[in-house]
Amino acid sequence: MSEKIGIAILGSTGSIGTQALEVIENRPDYFDLQVLTAGKNADLLIEQAKKYQPNTVVIGDEDSYQKVKDALWGENIHVYCGEDALCQVVEATNVHTVLTALVGYAGLKPTIHAIEAGKTIALANKETLVVAGEFITKLAKEKGVNIYPVDSEHSAIFQCLVGEFHNPIEKIYLTASGGPFRGFSISDLQKVTLEQALKHPNWSMGAKITIDSASLMNKGLEVIEAKWLFNLKPEQIDVIVHPQSIVHSLIQFQDGSMKAQMGLPDMKLPIQYALSYPNRLATNFPRFNFMDYPNLTFEAPNREVFKNLDLAYRVMDELGTSACALNAANEVAVDAFLNKKISFLEIGELNETVVNETKNILNPSYQDYVNSDQNAREKALQLLRK
Ligand code: NAD
Ligand code: MG
Repeated sequence: MSEKIGIAILGSTGSIGTQALEVIENRPDYFDLQVLTAGKNADLLIEQAKKYQPNTVVIGDEDSYQKVKDALWGENIHVYCGEDALCQVVEATNVHTVLTALVGYAGLKPTIHAIEAGKTIALANKETLVVAGEFITKLAKEKGVNIYPVDSEHSAIFQCLVGEFHNPIEKIYLTASGGPFRGFSISDLQKVTLEQALKHPNWSMGAKITIDSASLMNKGLEVIEAKWLFNLKPEQIDVIVHPQSIVHSLIQFQDGSMKAQMGLPDMKLPIQYALSYPNRLATNFPRFNFMDYPNLTFEAPNREVFKNLDLAYRVMDELGTSACALNAANEVAVDAFLNKKISFLEIGELNETVVNETKNILNPSYQDYVNSDQNAREKALQLLRK
């Protein structure tokens, strides 16, 4: 390959961000790291900047700006802070691909800027497609921009689709580990603690997605993400619980044939595939051994207990700003749960109440999403104060 791929990582200090750096570090001949950004973790951002020598860094937290600037003085690295800077750095000429590895609604605006600037998107920030899938996919089409999934399930579907883009999908199955509370009843869930919810059986991830995995909200968000990525109708998307997390997802084609993508649960693989597609780069990641997994099992998710999943299907069906409101409520609810202000079951209750009490706006503009996010957050915070 003649030219290296210029990469910007939004959220380089997080779980996806740090694993992406490992991937990039392995292939200095292939990737050229241009931009690193973090929300609040100035110390790790400084350490990463010194080690990887990007062109530019952005710290979201304005109070940490001087600290980062002082620490990187003399390093020949541009240092900026705040949301506007995040939106500008993705537009730089030497950036080819933007990896959106920041968490939550905050991913939406910089992703829009990146698409408008014609950058390829490696999308980890599923919330962007949940909040504004209709708007984002239309914009990407208009600008001729490809969005490659990083989420392991969607990467699996994408990998199964290679060579099949002309063949209609009949159905997809997104696999779910079931999280730490698989098999729990509602009365079991009444007693669970934050510490239990933070212990995911198969994946080590950021706090927000770990809680979303325990409540099956993550799978609900992924159903919506899949709808927009692969242009599917709700009835074409199914969820199947697969506790071993080896089959990362499956497609069923019109002839009844099914394709699955398998491997050990390691996010570095889907991250790398999104950054290097259509090429597969050699790695020394651990290999799967059948003898370690004599049983791969599958079961239906319990929708009575884990109500977030049906709630996600409902807002997906409604289109408009409903999913944006659900996402906002869930961000507030998860934050409250992480700060021990509400119980685990109250996350789903808050989500449902906010969605029920929110007006859905069809064919939304960008401003409609901004308003809907803000209104749903306010409503959720109000309910929390009651
Ligand atoms: P994380 O909490 O570990 O990291 C988040 C990163 O974003 C950090 O660098 C943080 O500094 C930055 N950030 C947070 N809030 C910000 C803000 N308001 N402005 C700017 N930067 C901000 O999260 P994660 O687990 O790496 O997840 C990142 C995204 O990837 C999420 O959307 C998640 O759903 C998705 N995802 C993660 C995994 C995983 O294995 N961790 C798997 C699939 C999808
Ligand atoms: Mg996933």
